[in-house]
Amino acid sequence: MKFSPGRCFMDKNREDSIRELAFGLREASCCTAFTGAGVSTFSGIQDFRGKNGLYRQEKGEELFDLAVFNRDPGVYYRGAKDFIYNIEDKTPGIVHILLAKLEKAGLLNTVITQNIDLLHQRAGSSHVIEVHGSPLLHHCLKCGDESSYEDIAALVQRGKIPTCRKCGGSIKPDITFFGEALPVDAMEQAFEVAARSDWILVLGSSLVVQPAALIPLETVKKGGKMVIVNNMATPLDSCAWQRYSDLEAFCTMLSKVLEL
Ligand code: ZN
Repeated sequence: MKFSPGRCFMDKNREDSIRELAFGLREASCCTAFTGAGVSTFSGIQDFRGKNGLYRQEKGEELFDLAVFNRDPGVYYRGAKDFIYNIEDKTPGIVHILLAKLEKAGLLNTVITQNIDLLHQRAGSSHVIEVHGSPLLHHCLKCGDESSYEDIAALVQRGKIPTCRKCGGSIKPDITFFGEALPVDAMEQAFEVAARSDWILVLGSSLVVQPAALIPLETVKKGGKMVIVNNMATPLDSCAWQRYSDLEAFCTMLSKVLEL
């Protein structure tokens, strides 16, 4: 495979390079954003793998472990109470807000996210593909009965562990746990959208979680341009058309240049 890596700006000449990007976005027929945990740190949500990330805390990994869930769903529901089931307490951050505005302005088609915090939807994005699953829906592991986020959140906030109203089985969120395959439909949709995008903005993802991280590469393989904004190096940096490290400065400048 042959890439044309283009230029790596690393925040130099930021305004000029962002003007160039803004021009490209206005001309684009399909633009996609691919987001990771870094976009939610502005909303006070821990980056799982960051320095103080959930996965580094005691029992953090167990929260999304299928074997642990099958033994005791309470481990997940108690841990997720003030992390997943408190959407009312969370505020979309600068990236969520910018992406919702870009969609409204007709400059962004789809958000593909590795996050499970529902903040893109809360900010107003209407085309969101959640490649690591979602807590929007829950299903009974025995009979498949479906429950909404709101119904489950109301129970969990009262300290209850939800069980199926029909058969008494365990109810699991549609989040992809360790030990489970990624959601096939969402992954197929994400690859299909990435393949027909002429731009993909990779925001706040270190692109280390596979196979989700291969999605932006699909755009590059099909001749589209990739812009990476992340505070740490990523394995795809050399394929990026532009590369920035400061997510907040990037969003502020892009909003200004596009007059959003
Ligand atoms: Zn059931």
